[in-house]
Amino acid sequence: MAQQRLLGDFLISRVVEQEGPFASASVVIAGFDEHRIKEHEDWVRPHYLTPDNELIMAFQSYVIQTPKANILIDACVGQDKPRPSRPSWHLQQQPRYLAQLQSLGLGMEDIDYVFCTHMHADHVGWNTVLNNGRWVPTFKNAKYLFGKEEYAHWHAAYQLSLSTPTPSPNHGSFEDSVLPVVESGQAQMVESDFEIEAGLYLGAAFGHTPGTCVLHAKSKDQSALFSGDIFHSPVQLVDLGWSSRFCSDPVAAAQVRQAVTHAICDTNTLLFAGHFPSCLGGHVKRGERTPSNAESFVFKAAD
Ligand SMILES: [Zn+2]
Repeated sequence: MAQQRLLGDFLISRVVEQEGPFASASVVIAGFDEHRIKEHEDWVRPHYLTPDNELIMAFQSYVIQTPKANILIDACVGQDKPRPSRPSWHLQQQPRYLAQLQSLGLGMEDIDYVFCTHMHADHVGWNTVLNNGRWVPTFKNAKYLFGKEEYAHWHAAYQLSLSTPTPSPNHGSFEDSVLPVVESGQAQMVESDFEIEAGLYLGAAFGHTPGTCVLHAKSKDQSALFSGDIFHSPVQLVDLGWSSRFCSDPVAAAQVRQAVTHAICDTNTLLFAGHFPSCLGGHVKRGERTPSNAESFVFKAAD
């Protein structure tokens, strides 16, 4: 697997926190039916699904280095974060993540933008680190790009948690990994079509969360889509209606998945999904029509 990939003038890397079997596919994907996998065994296993139907997932950031800026996309689970209801995230240390960032020749101070596709706990963790008992921005020179709709939704949920028994949203990550960034003045609330620089711009993909945005990258006739959690696993290409149990609006999430799949399949657009394991991007291709499924799609990791 390539460690880095050029997309025109953009250099793309991934920085991995964790990778491996995460949970049973039926726990993550609401409508999962293992019988539907039979027609897709050749590409779904062993990379994305274990023999006993556990999803293999990565928790990772992507880094885009352009001639102008270094951009970190999604900030994983993070370090020292209290997440008692998820043992694999709880008070983790992440030496692998830091070492990989360093191996790209990047220090924390070299990141110019952090873009969180959405504000679930596994996408905002590295936004902050502990410093003398306080959460402070990890990337001191970065602007943190937060979608306006996404921030407004979770801010309202947080406010509600202050006055009612409702738990603090997203395992407490809004409070420890988003609010401190806003309070530091490093947050920039952006529209869903915000352009970071020529060839790098957001797109609205509301559904998985109320304000999820994707990032489009285009340089010299090449293109890529950083899709956050529109897909959790390539297995969802077996049935585009299979939304995850973490989707706030599963129907809208499925519509977004349908639209994205049709837009990029059989094109040169590379898909960089939030949790796809053991690959640095890949292509969606139209598969053979199958008896049980009028359309079928295949994910092919890029070489
Ligand atoms: Zn996620």
